[in-house]
Formats: sequence, C-alpha cells, structure tokens
Amino acid sequence: MRVFNTLTGRLEEFVPINDNFVGMYVCGVTVYDLCHIGHARSAVVFDVIVRYLRYKGYKVKFVKNFTDIDDKIINRANKEGVSWRQIAEKYTEEYYKDMDRLGIMRADVEPKATEHIEEMIKIVQTLIDKGFAYTVEEEEGKSVYFAVEKFPDYGKLSKKRIEELEAGARVEVDEKKRNPLDFALWKASKQGEPWWESPWGKGRPGWHIECSAMSLKHIGESIDIHGGGADLIFPHHENEIAQSEAYTGKLFAKYWLHNGFVTINREKMSKSLGNVLNIRDLLELYDAEAIRLFLISSHYRSPIEFSPEYIKEAELSLDRAYSTIMRMEEVERSAKGKKPTGMSQEIQRALETLKTNFEEAMDEDFNTAKAVGFIFDFIKEINRFIDKKPSEEEIEIIKKSKEFLREVGSILNILQRKPIQWYRSLLKIKKISLSEEEIEKLIEERAIARKNKEWQRADKIRQELSAKGIILEDWVDRTVWKVKIE
Ligand SMILES: [Zn+2]
Repeated sequence: MRVFNTLTGRLEEFVPINDNFVGMYVCGVTVYDLCHIGHARSAVVFDVIVRYLRYKGYKVKFVKNFTDIDDKIINRANKEGVSWRQIAEKYTEEYYKDMDRLGIMRADVEPKATEHIEEMIKIVQTLIDKGFAYTVEEEEGKSVYFAVEKFPDYGKLSKKRIEELEAGARVEVDEKKRNPLDFALWKASKQGEPWWESPWGKGRPGWHIECSAMSLKHIGESIDIHGGGADLIFPHHENEIAQSEAYTGKLFAKYWLHNGFVTINREKMSKSLGNVLNIRDLLELYDAEAIRLFLISSHYRSPIEFSPEYIKEAELSLDRAYSTIMRMEEVERSAKGKKPTGMSQEIQRALETLKTNFEEAMDEDFNTAKAVGFIFDFIKEINRFIDKKPSEEEIEIIKKSKEFLREVGSILNILQRKPIQWYRSLLKIKKISLSEEEIEKLIEERAIARKNKEWQRADKIRQELSAKGIILEDWVDRTVWKVKIE
C-alpha cells in the first residue's frame, strides 16, 4: 500500500512504526459554529481511510480532537452573552448531528483540548527548560512563545524556509515575541477571557499545543498518520512538529496526509466571501449518502468543486445502484426454495475483477474516485446479467454479488441501506406530497382495478402517481414504487 506523504512530498510504501498497529491523529473542528462542506470532506476522507486500513487488517487507534477553547469561541460567546463552554458544548452537539447523518464513524478517542490543560502545561514547561520556548511579561502574568529559530527543522513539512517566512510574517500589535514566526504556547489571560492556573499565572493554551498534547497522551510520542485539511499544513502542523519534536526528541508523525479544499465557483469557501455551505442546509436538499458519494468521487488530495449538478450525479448513481439491489433481491425472492446448482462464469469473473481493482485503487493512496468507478461498473454488469434472465442455477452468484457489494460499500460507507430506505429518503428530499402509506394504498387500488379489468381506472392511478413524482414498476407478482429523480 502506498500513501502520499506531505512530509517527503512523494508516494511512499506504507509501513507502520509498530508492525500491525496504526496510531492515527486527525485535527478536528473548533466548535464555535455549524460545520460546512469543507469539514464534511475532511471527516469523510479520514473516515474512509480508517475503514480501509481496518479492512486491510491493521489495528487502528484513531484519535480526533475537538478544539473547545479558542478566540472564535470566546468571541461568539461574548456576542451571544453566554459562556464559552455553552458555545463549545452546543456546537459539539451540532457537529455530531451532522456527522452522524453523513455516516462518519466515531473516532476511538475524541479528546477535548480543555481536558488536557495539565498535559499542555507540562510540555510547555519542558520546552522552556530545554531552551525552545521563552516567557514574556504581560499585564497580568506571562505568555510563553516557541522560539522557531531554535528548531532547525522548522519548515520541513510546508517546505518553507525560515528566512522567507520571516520576511512575510506580520506581528500583531499586542504580541511581544522575539521573532515574528514564534508562536504562542500559552497566552496570559486578558479581561473577560477564560483562564486556567499555570506556572506563568492565569492563562490559556495556544491552539497548536493542544494537538501535540492530545496525540502524545492518546497515541504516543510518534504517531503513524497525522491527518487534516491542507489549510492546516502551515502554520498549524508545522508548529505541531516543532513543539512535539523539540519536546520528545523523536519523529512526531511518520506520514502526513492532507485533504484538498472544497471550492465554489473555483474559489475557496470562506466566511469573508460569504460562500460557506453548511452541512445542515445541504442535508435539507440532498440525501446524506449522495453528499458522501460526491465527496469521495474525487481523489482526497485534489480540490473539489461543489456544484448541485455533481451531487445530482451522485444521487443518480445511487439511485441506479439501489434499483439494481432491488432487482437482485427480487431475483433471489423469486428463486426461493429452488436449489442453485451452478455459477455464472461471467459474473464470477466480474466479482473477482471488482475485488482486485477496488483494492488496487485503494492501495494507491486511497483512490476512492477509481474505487467508486469500479463499484458502479460492476453494478452495470449485474444489471446486464439480470436483463438476460439468469437461470435458476445462477441465483447463487446474485446473492454473492449482493453480499460483496455490501462489503466493499461498507469501506466507503455507501450502499448500506435497503432500497426501500433509499426511496423513503427521496420521498422526503424531493418533497413528494404523498406518504409511503398513501402510495401503497394507491398501488393496492390499482391492483384491484387491474384484477377487475378496469384498465382506465388503473391507468389513472398510475398517471396520478407519476404526476406526483412516483414511478411504478410491475414485477411478476407485485408492483414496486420508486421516486423520479430528474
Ligand atoms: Zn491539530
């Protein structure tokens, strides 16, 4: 298996530090607002990576943190006249609501920054003792800064040179650091801000130190994979490396994986541009699985352009897939009790090809775009196979295919629902004015009409349903309904 390592700038064979164990840390969100589609992308990307590593047999310990103390949280709390804790708790809850709907598995540990103040203080103190950090006097107490020049490897992740960075760095008016690149490990508390006791007086931790403390505590001195959005490479991840490696004297993370941005009209999403798309709003318009499929239909490192059209495409693919699964179920159902005696060579081969291709794509830096393509190619083949009316002997392979689709689907967390659940979701998303019960009732009425040879009446019901966005399919001994999606 090969992964692209931002640290070395190339694809590398993936070899964990301790044989089968993979310690993986991903920077989580700062809980001060609803999550947007960019957060969704990062969450989905690393969710798939963890699932695939486990599928490959690795024992993964996955840690994803919450930054629950930060300027943004404090500002929002002041604006709303509530405590910072209330803001952090509220948006942690909202985070879970969105991520659960997107099918994001919980990490093994989801630590909060404020629960690790003691660990952070210990690291900061050691960095001072070792000469990597210094204190500056503030109005009340002291702040602590990391002295970037003391860490010769600074810039190794972002491939930036200290001199260039220094030339471009800006110093905030109220900062008293020695070098513009130095970053705060500990901030002396200001009026109205939350604080914790420390050897430097009342204050709070800087952002970067949180991740060093939490990864150290929950994984260890050296972690196998450190992940996050590409926007975190500099300065956040660069600073994490500096303080962690200065503290332990060991390699902080072996592989650095970064996901690309989500763009809108080719621009990066940002609050200042006013083009931020919240997951919450998107979930009103699209099925969560369609959003998820859209997000994994590109390679995780490339930027993806958000457009309703692309999500529609994902929706269409899922619709075809669930429709095929429904056909597979029907083939199985109609063959109940009949004994399978053989397998279709053709589908057997397609199954094996899917497995090989899927793994090859995922083994090459988690190429979900390709992997998804192979799954949908296979679905097309299954459709062609069923079109040819498989003989009773060939039913077994349908069953096997369905199971396998479910298995590969589970790595991407797609195609895990029953077809009926997909159509139910579409009823809601497409705002169809009929309930499932009403549809079933009309289908029943139509069946009776057909039985009584009242063709006109039967046709009218079909048209009525169609006008409301419901299509009927007549199968051997029953009628099923689907939702029109164009
Ligand atoms: Zn971090």
